[in-house]
Amino acid sequence: MIKKLLIANRGEIALRILRACREMGIKTVAVHSTADRDLKHVRLADESVCIGPASSTDSYLNIPAIISAAEVTDADAIHPGYGFLSENADFAERVESSGFVFVGPRAKTIRLMGDKISAKEAMLKTNVPCVPGSEGAIPEDPAEALAMGDRIGYPVIIKATGGGGGRGMRVVHKREALIDSIILTKSEARGAFGNDVVYMEKYLQAPRHIEFQVLADSFGNAIHLCERDCSMQRRHQKVVEEAPAPGITPEQRNRMGAILTKACSEIGYRGAGTFEFLYENGEFYFIEMNTRLQVEHPVTEMITGVDLVKQQLLIASGEKLMIKQEDIVPKGHAIECRINAEDPNTFMPSPGKIERFHQPGGLGVRVDSHVYGGYTVPPYYDSMIGKLIVHGEDRAGAIARMEGALEEMVIEGIKTNIDLQRRIITDPAFIKGGADIHYLEKKLGIQS
Ligand code: ADP
Repeated sequence: MIKKLLIANRGEIALRILRACREMGIKTVAVHSTADRDLKHVRLADESVCIGPASSTDSYLNIPAIISAAEVTDADAIHPGYGFLSENADFAERVESSGFVFVGPRAKTIRLMGDKISAKEAMLKTNVPCVPGSEGAIPEDPAEALAMGDRIGYPVIIKATGGGGGRGMRVVHKREALIDSIILTKSEARGAFGNDVVYMEKYLQAPRHIEFQVLADSFGNAIHLCERDCSMQRRHQKVVEEAPAPGITPEQRNRMGAILTKACSEIGYRGAGTFEFLYENGEFYFIEMNTRLQVEHPVTEMITGVDLVKQQLLIASGEKLMIKQEDIVPKGHAIECRINAEDPNTFMPSPGKIERFHQPGGLGVRVDSHVYGGYTVPPYYDSMIGKLIVHGEDRAGAIARMEGALEEMVIEGIKTNIDLQRRIITDPAFIKGGADIHYLEKKLGIQS
């Protein structure tokens, strides 16, 4: 069993991981930048190490500094959280070659799924439904590329195989624009990801974003923990997430779950992971796999009762998965609102000192946040300062509970998106359920 874990992250997720360790009797090492000495988990950890200056390139992305911190503190495992180095296969490899346990999949799985073309190929091989498109890269010959566009049918989307975070994509509505769009996306991808390979997919016009959570151990056992709907997005960033996804039937869930757990065994997946899909007209289309814990994991925990971080730590310790598929019986409904330090009108980050902080409470209310009254939100990192999660007997109950919880939540001194969240939760289309991924931007009057 892991005895001492280094948490290679910051903010709410570092605290979330620390909490799981405390319950499991695992000692913790917090690593932090010079701007993050006041983080809650740094105070609560058994040991802490400053790994560099504020800029994340020099601290949270600084692989040698993190490995050295693990060495000097005698940690035996490293949890990457999400973001930062969590999907960096080289990091996973370095962690393991330095003699530590990486809490996540094997480096080669991260690499396979991190390249969108190879991920799609692997999924097609294991019968996971994908968006129709080019199998592999778009051919160099313009005539062949045009023929491909005709075959797939417009609109199409050009995507960089090395892309991520909603970047490296371009929608093409007409044949005439195809070749220029390919050239442009390639040159952007070369600059941003150092890899100019692009592929083509049918552009789905009004899909929902539905994703499935899985857990797999090192022995080929895998289970799924139902799905989440994360269609409320702004600039490809999720804003509200819920589980289960409205309108998805147990038959659909079981069918997809069976395909995905089989895929996990076939690709040798290990740990927690998420298969992301676009969902349109009753069909699922794979877009990518996240080989890590996700921001929205709590909604799954709330409906299944499974602590995903504990499971990650058990799997990384070499334990067999003790939960059986039949043990996963979703109960009630959970919703998560991301709380961001941002201007409600311009969406610009709003760092600064939190003068007053009151968090909501009561039955079925969970707040995953590292902030407190008097804490200063630094300007260097993501603007998400916490997550408000509620669980209700059903979707209507969860919505009512979220409305009350948002009302109770007070954050003064900085600007936040709490009012925006209140508008979303009381929006008729949200209340109805099943809005598509463009809904929120349309509501906000944003052109995407
Ligand atoms: P990233 O790794 O950058 O997040 P994804 O492949 O997950 O890239 O796509 C991000 C978002 O782009 C999706 O959530 C969806 O909104 C949009 N998108 C991607 N592929 C398609 C497609 N084929 N049709 C419509 N929208 C798409």
